[in-house]
Amino acid sequence: MEPLLFGTTSAGKLRELRRLIAPLGITCRSLADEPRAVAVEETGATFAENAALKASAQATACGSWVLAEDSGLCVAALGDAPGVRSARFAGEPADDAANNALLLQRLAGSGDRRAHYACHAALARPDGQIIATSRGECHGMIATTPSGAGGFGYDPLFIVAEYHCTFGTLPPAVKDLISHRARAIRAILGDLVRHLSRPPDGRR
Ligand code: IMP
Repeated sequence: MEPLLFGTTSAGKLRELRRLIAPLGITCRSLADEPRAVAVEETGATFAENAALKASAQATACGSWVLAEDSGLCVAALGDAPGVRSARFAGEPADDAANNALLLQRLAGSGDRRAHYACHAALARPDGQIIATSRGECHGMIATTPSGAGGFGYDPLFIVAEYHCTFGTLPPAVKDLISHRARAIRAILGDLVRHLSRPPDGRR
């Protein structure tokens, strides 16, 4: 199998991506291991656009297969905000605690606490061309107070519909089964195996 570069600098995402890809036995590297990695501005209006931007830019810069994803939280009462702005909802630099505090403030007194996480993944060839995409969602509610230290980002506030408790309190193995990221990555696993498998004689 050819090695795969994850197109993210997020420690939380990387932990989950490594666990989700581990069963395939692919050698995975992160941008921290790659001196040719570039900073990519997330200028897209959608998760899909940003995932493709990140995968393509890092693949071209690093000459590697790249799996990137763009993800975020969409809150019904906020018109699906923060969405693509989830990481920097409370401003720069990105700060999970400030984002969670602002979310609680914006929803104070709201009877509608429905929300979902969305994740769009993109696989780019070493020449930058996107050859596969996928998406996943995970639905739930925003709690009135944070609970649990598991996961990252909005997880202490995100009550998973199926479990009635937050991702912050659930074991990682549960998040790996039902999260938006788990669903998006499972949907692209077939493409990963097909494209990264090297035939014995080196031809494709
Ligand atoms: P991105 O790097 O632009 O894709 O931003 C992703 C942001 O969305 C993160 O910084 C978090 O704020 C939020 N997010 C995405 N996925 C998760 C998750 O699984 N748990 C908690 N927050 C998440």
